[in-house]
Amino acid sequence: MFAFCSLLLILPSYINTIFSIMITRKDFLKKSSLIAVGGLLFPSLMKGNKVMQKEFGNNDFIPLGSGKPLVIATWNNLKATEAAMNKMKETNSALDAVEAGARVPEADPEDTSVGYGGMPDRDGMVTLDACIMDEKGNAGSVTFLQNIMHPISVARKVMEKTPHVMLSGDGAYQFAIAQGFKKENLLTEKARLAWEDWKKKNNYIPIGEKNHDTIGILAIDEKNNISGACTTSGWAFKMHGRVGDSPIIGAGMYVDNEVGGACATGVGEFVMKTCGSFLIVELMRNGRSPQEAVEEAIHRIVKRYDYKDLQIGYLAINKKGEHGAYSIKPGFNYALHQNGENRKLDSDSFVK
Ligand code: ASP
Repeated sequence: MFAFCSLLLILPSYINTIFSIMITRKDFLKKSSLIAVGGLLFPSLMKGNKVMQKEFGNNDFIPLGSGKPLVIATWNNLKATEAAMNKMKETNSALDAVEAGARVPEADPEDTSVGYGGMPDRDGMVTLDACIMDEKGNAGSVTFLQNIMHPISVARKVMEKTPHVMLSGDGAYQFAIAQGFKKENLLTEKARLAWEDWKKKNNYIPIGEKNHDTIGILAIDEKNNISGACTTSGWAFKMHGRVGDSPIIGAGMYVDNEVGGACATGVGEFVMKTCGSFLIVELMRNGRSPQEAVEEAIHRIVKRYDYKDLQIGYLAINKKGEHGAYSIKPGFNYALHQNGENRKLDSDSFVK
């Protein structure tokens, strides 16, 4: 009896260990039969591993529970994860990595929801939000910032050079100039034309939904430190003065170096109303896997609000280097740089 009970106790961790071992395709057949037996005996063990099952489906397996350093970012931001990983190789700092990654879409005129090239508000002004958090729990943020191409770097300066967490609007701008940032016009011709077009078709009413490509980026370095960043031009054609979830510590992004990190993209109002990223980290603290935690955070939204026209996507990582991704609707994807590979992956979603 004792032996049988011990087996029951040991088997789940044995199966998890199998998931954590790098396997080649050759090993795959041998090991997948073991996993299948494990799945029959312990179906709940398999449930939290949808990301991994997808990987099996793609016949291209990255193990959960391994692979540090790692960088993960919302949407198809492969250039950002690449830049972040390159920075990590130079400085071995997750904080430097997330800043370097976030700066890529900020400077890209083709990216219409972050920094330069971002869609303006309904009055034609590009207003930017960003936040950053390091492994010590330090945080910096800027909101409603105009004419500065790299809000993420201003947020880092707020974190490192001031006693505050958040600077907003003209105050954030004045601070940026004092720190040596350049004043720049961020409204590209493409974004201006899109705004002109929007004005013709819409009655000055912000409708949101589309154009959600905010970058949230999380990283773990070789010292096992976690940092995160998030930067956006926000909801296209929003009301002047609107600030979304992205610069709000605990909403658009949150990191706790004891546990993990989370970040969000999508209609920020609902991420803020549910303290999304903080919730995910707390769920992981209480034992959920990153995948279980992001799913629960999405469930909190769909249980409470009419989600018909909403898209929200969450990413999470834990201290072991496991990750989770989940969104309300299909279509959310993300970039993962881990084990020397930089890949775009599709997230699972609540609505199939
Ligand atoms: N979360 C951002 C905001 O609400 C928008 C987005 O992700 O595109 O400002």
